[in-house]
Amino acid sequence: IRILGIESSADDACAAVVSGDRRILSSVVMKQHEINKEYGGIHPIQAQEAHQSDIPLAIRQALKEADLTLDDLDAIAYTRGPGMMGCLGVGATSAKALAAAADKPLVGVHHMQAHALTAMLTEDVPPRFPFLTLLVSGGHTQLLLAENIETYRIIGDKLDNALGDAFDKIARLLQLPPSPTHGLGPVLEDYASRFPLGPYVDQPIEPMRFPLTKPKEMKMVAFSFAGLMTQTERRAKKEFSNLKMKIPEKVKREISRAFQVAAIGHVVQKVRLAIDTLDMPIHGLVVSGGVGSNLYLREQLRVMLDDVLVTNKLDDPIGLYFPPIPLCTDNAAMIAWVAALRLQNGLKSDPFNLPLRRKWSLEDLYNDVPADAY
Ligand code: ATP
Ligand code: FE
Repeated sequence: IRILGIESSADDACAAVVSGDRRILSSVVMKQHEINKEYGGIHPIQAQEAHQSDIPLAIRQALKEADLTLDDLDAIAYTRGPGMMGCLGVGATSAKALAAAADKPLVGVHHMQAHALTAMLTEDVPPRFPFLTLLVSGGHTQLLLAENIETYRIIGDKLDNALGDAFDKIARLLQLPPSPTHGLGPVLEDYASRFPLGPYVDQPIEPMRFPLTKPKEMKMVAFSFAGLMTQTERRAKKEFSNLKMKIPEKVKREISRAFQVAAIGHVVQKVRLAIDTLDMPIHGLVVSGGVGSNLYLREQLRVMLDDVLVTNKLDDPIGLYFPPIPLCTDNAAMIAWVAALRLQNGLKSDPFNLPLRRKWSLEDLYNDVPADAY
């Protein structure tokens, strides 16, 4: 089967065509960086207006790149939630119009389920259930347990800032150079890894002049960076009593590194706590979201899982998966993919009158879909 997916829950306008046998025939993502820069973040009305012109263009482009027409498709999928209502509406209405006109099944998809199942689309040897997914982005820091395609448990969530947001704020505090890409996280990583020279893997952590304590470690799987951010700010201020003063490069690197080590150490420790305390053994850990590209995070997770294998005397190692970044951040291929899985699981079509869900827990998935949809 071939499915057209449409994603418009936040600022990216996305359309993609994916086949039931895991082929991504096209994946178009139209970003709104310029608009966001002008408004200092996502502006709901502006984003919605941009979608009204971008979503049709993205759909046309996705069909063109896949070299298919509407008739060649087996279903139309859209993001039903969670997200901004005005934005979701543009994608949903487009999907419904296409499904109605071409008389195709319609599938409304949960955005976070799509993030969680991306590794099943991208990996030749996909993770086996149950597996954990760690979503670390500008807006999320969340650990999920996927028990099967339709059953999820939220194991840990952020208590304050998201990890990507914390990276961005500290990078701004340190006046790191602007980044051509989305977010300053990669710039901070670059500074941290050049302390004092060469990659961090060769450098002992000890001589750091700014040891920062990790966020308070409670016996609870939850993520908190606010305390660490305050501490980093205090250290920085102490070092260059007036923040307007030009900060020496060496100090920027030291603080970047101290922050990165502490923030990522906290995340890794919490994932470990989850693995050690869950009521079931897991087979995989999937990392997604923009921060998933951070090499120090990747390395520390690997070290942690190697240790879990030995310490917990596991028979099989827990697989570690990093789907390619363009498919970890918002995209429509993941939406089409979940639709393919739901259709393969017996769904005929979602009804056209299902409401959009601005807030939608993954623990309450498709409970409002009537039985005759299957
Ligand atoms: P969300 O999808 O939760 O609404 P978003 O769209 O801002 O948030 P992404 O596009 O997934 O999130 O990720 C962008 C965030 O990831 C930014 O905060 C960016 O600074 C951060 N980030 C990207 N690469 C790295 C890296 N190598 N190290 C640390 N942070 C990074
Ligand atoms: Fe997303």
